[in-house]
Amino acid sequence: MDLSALLSDPAFRRAETAITAGFDRFVQDIVTLTEIAAPPFGEGPRAEKFAIMLAEAGIASVSTDAAGNVLGFRAGQGSGQLIAVAAHLDTVFPAGTDTKVRREGNRLFAPGVGDDTRGLAVLLALARAMAETGLSTRDDILFVADVGEEGPGDLRGMRHLFQEGAYAGKIDAFFTFDGATMETLVTGAIGSHRYRVSFTGPGGHSFNDFGIVNPSNALGDFLAGLARLPVPREPRTTFSASVLGGGTSINAIPQAVWVDVDLRSADPGPLAELDGAMRRLVERAVAAENGRGSTAKGAIAADIKPVGKRPAAPLLTAGRVIAESVAALAAYGFETQFAASSTDANIPLSLGIPAVMFGCGTAAGGAHTLEEWIEVEPKAGQRALAASLAAVLAVAGLSS
Ligand SMILES: [Zn+2]
Repeated sequence: MDLSALLSDPAFRRAETAITAGFDRFVQDIVTLTEIAAPPFGEGPRAEKFAIMLAEAGIASVSTDAAGNVLGFRAGQGSGQLIAVAAHLDTVFPAGTDTKVRREGNRLFAPGVGDDTRGLAVLLALARAMAETGLSTRDDILFVADVGEEGPGDLRGMRHLFQEGAYAGKIDAFFTFDGATMETLVTGAIGSHRYRVSFTGPGGHSFNDFGIVNPSNALGDFLAGLARLPVPREPRTTFSASVLGGGTSINAIPQAVWVDVDLRSADPGPLAELDGAMRRLVERAVAAENGRGSTAKGAIAADIKPVGKRPAAPLLTAGRVIAESVAALAAYGFETQFAASSTDANIPLSLGIPAVMFGCGTAAGGAHTLEEWIEVEPKAGQRALAASLAAVLAVAGLSS
C-alpha cells in the first residue's frame, strides 16, 4: 500500500508505539529462546516453547507441521493473499553447547543469540504489536518458525512449507528475519549442490597385487580435473573438495575412497553446467583407471551421493514486495543494498515467489562462533523493529 498513507494511519501508529514500547520484552524473549539449545535436527524443545510464546503473543491459531515448523496463522480481511514471515529455529551449535546469555552493557553474548534467535523474537514482537492494538490487515499473515536452515538441515523446513505442507502453493510473498543488520536485503539465492563422491574397486595387497586398479588413483584424477574446471566469475560460481576419507591400511590397495564436494552458484544455469561437468570428470576418472590398471580382480566404479541441494535464484531487484520493503526501511533511515546468500529465501525465490531476507536488528557479529553477539541498544533496536513492522504491513496492507 502507499507508504505515506500507511505511516500516517492511526492503526499503524498505534502498532508502531506498541512494538517500540515492547522493546524490553523483545530482549527478554531473545534471552529465553537462546537458552533453549536448538542444534540441527534438535529444534523440538525450542519449537515447543516458541509455539507457546506465539500463542501468548496473540496468535489464535498455532500449530506444528510434519517437518517441525511452528506455524501461526493470523487472518486478514479476506484479500486471499498470504504473506509468510519467518525466522529459523535451528542454530549451528551441537547439542551440549553452553547457550547461557551474558550481558555486557548493550551487548548480549551467546551462541545463536543473533542467528537466528533474534529473528524469532522479531516475529513475536510483530505478532504482539498487532494483537495488542487490534490491528487488522488486508492479507493473511503466516508466522513461521522453521527447522533446518543451517547446513545439515538443507532447508528441509522451507521445502516442506512450500512444497508439501498445508500452505504449499498458497504463499504469495515471503519475509525471513535472519540478517545481522538492516542495511542488507537478501533477494538472491546462492544455490549449492553437495555430494559425497566415492570410488570403489577390488582392493588388495599393496605389493602382491600391484598392477590392479586402485580407486585412489581415480579419486586423484577426478580432483586434478576438478581443480582445472573453468567456471564463470560472474555469476560467481565455485567448487571445493573438502573432506576426504577411505582406505584401511598403508599396505593395502583400498576398496573404497571418497571426497565431499561443494558446488555453488548465484545462478541455476552455471550451477547445472558445473554439476554436469563434475559428473563427466567422475566418469572419465573411472574409465581412465580401468584402462590403466588390471581389472582381472574387479573394476573401479563410482557413486555420487547427494548430501545437500539448495536451489539458486538470480537477484530480485524489482517488483512490489521489493519496492515496498526498500521504501519502508528507507523511511526509518536504513539505506539498503541487495545481496545474494544461502538462506530460507532460496526456496521461495527458486519457485518465483517474491522473497526477502531482512536484518533483525542494528548490529551483530561472530555468527556461527561461540563468541556470537548482538547489540540491544534500545533506540536503534526500536527503530529496526518499527521499520520491520512497516515493511511487513506495507506488503500485507491495512484493512480499511
Ligand atoms: Zn540464520
